[in-house]
Amino acid sequence: ALVVRHRTRSSGKWGRATAIAKELEEQCWTPISKLRQVADALDVEMHAGLASEGGCKLKMLITYVDNLPSGDEKGLFYALDLGGTNFRTLRVHLGGKEKGVVKIESEEVSIPPHLMTGSSQELFDFIASKLAKFVSSEPEELHPPPGRQRELGFTFSFPVKQTSIASGTLIKWTKGFNIEDAVGEDVVGGLTKSLEKIGLDMRVAALVNDTVGTVARARFSNQDVIAGVILGTGTNAAYVECAHAIPKWQGLLPKSGEMVINMEWGNFCSSHLPLTEYDQALDAESLNPGEQIFEKIVSGMYLGDIVRRVLLKMAEEVDFFGDTVPPKLRIPFVLRTPDMSAMHHDTSSDLKVVGNKLKDILEINNTSLKTRKIVVELCDIVATRGARLSAAGIFSILKKIGRDTVKDGKKQKSVVALDGGLFEHYAKFRSSLESTLKELLGDEADETVGIEHSNDGSGIGAALLAASNSQYLGVQES
Ligand code: BGC
Ligand code: MG
Repeated sequence: ALVVRHRTRSSGKWGRATAIAKELEEQCWTPISKLRQVADALDVEMHAGLASEGGCKLKMLITYVDNLPSGDEKGLFYALDLGGTNFRTLRVHLGGKEKGVVKIESEEVSIPPHLMTGSSQELFDFIASKLAKFVSSEPEELHPPPGRQRELGFTFSFPVKQTSIASGTLIKWTKGFNIEDAVGEDVVGGLTKSLEKIGLDMRVAALVNDTVGTVARARFSNQDVIAGVILGTGTNAAYVECAHAIPKWQGLLPKSGEMVINMEWGNFCSSHLPLTEYDQALDAESLNPGEQIFEKIVSGMYLGDIVRRVLLKMAEEVDFFGDTVPPKLRIPFVLRTPDMSAMHHDTSSDLKVVGNKLKDILEINNTSLKTRKIVVELCDIVATRGARLSAAGIFSILKKIGRDTVKDGKKQKSVVALDGGLFEHYAKFRSSLESTLKELLGDEADETVGIEHSNDGSGIGAALLAASNSQYLGVQES
């Protein structure tokens, strides 16, 4: 950042390119004071979302998960994970306290793009057929006894208004999915129809968001876990709320006194968010304009495209890549976040990786070192803003449930589980998030709050929740 800040303004191409970068940096600036304002605004929206249904930016969805895994879960369960770029089927063998997760088998399929915007029937039929094929590879010794149904945890990572642990209607699509006829419909009903059609006898025992799966997965191994955050294609968080703090909850008070809340924080929006002209254009041209604003400046689906938009402006306004605008630069989403990350982490003295990416992806040849440095700078500005805002989001959850400070000298541990490609693979994003969270918490709470990577929460977590909501609970253990 400093390179750009201290360079003096000049009227040539470099000066003007630098001015554009500098302006971006200023607009994306997230000093701690601003992050605290963002966290406070989130806190206000959290309260509003818990108080009443509808009309709020944060849906604060009731998940019907009021009983997190204890570690005792046992048996063979299936899981489906739908919601990112890939779709996965899993077979998870749980061995209880002694053995933990004994074995996981999984298969990953990329979703044909036309299914992401087609009809819900087509999508569910596709999923059901992949699942049936996967089930047919089940070893004979694992077959359920006659009369016993296989059970499935279905991770469906979109905003869903749950009507029970195993049913719920889709509120809206996000992340590049847009299948109109599914909105307002019961997700489990749709899947079940396709399962029946294909003759697969399997019961959906739990319908879960990936953030909720992440909490469940992490809680299975660590009882201090209080929240789960996904930083991947999209972004979101779920946390364990005290049932008394949910005025809109009409049901019986759960025995545990707790309820997992799916915040759907991707839809957060506030005048405190540092938004730029590039974000506004990205939003306006997206499948869901006006929605998921926080997600659009934080998550993996969008970060690369923000950088592309800045480069396009530089190409158009200051001939940054020569007198013509490289045509590839006009294609939405050509510059993906993993490529942005690769450029950002380039440690070679001549920024060879950056040069190659520009050439291979954007067909921009023979870039100078000066050009490449500015590209890295843009990646840094955009990734840092996203990482620091994510930290503010986590901080707001800790604040909401009173885990941001040490209470009465009690050093109660709080662990936040994170998962998703952005967190897992974008090292600079992750380290910025971690250091920002430390900064927000200060020294005292820093000892009691931890974050951990919860591997494959969305898959294993769903299987765990299928286990704890099995229709055979207490009947028999396998
Ligand atoms: C969805 C959430 C999901 C998140 C991470 C968002 O777009 O609305 O339900 O948890 O992506 O996958
Ligand atoms: Mg996932």
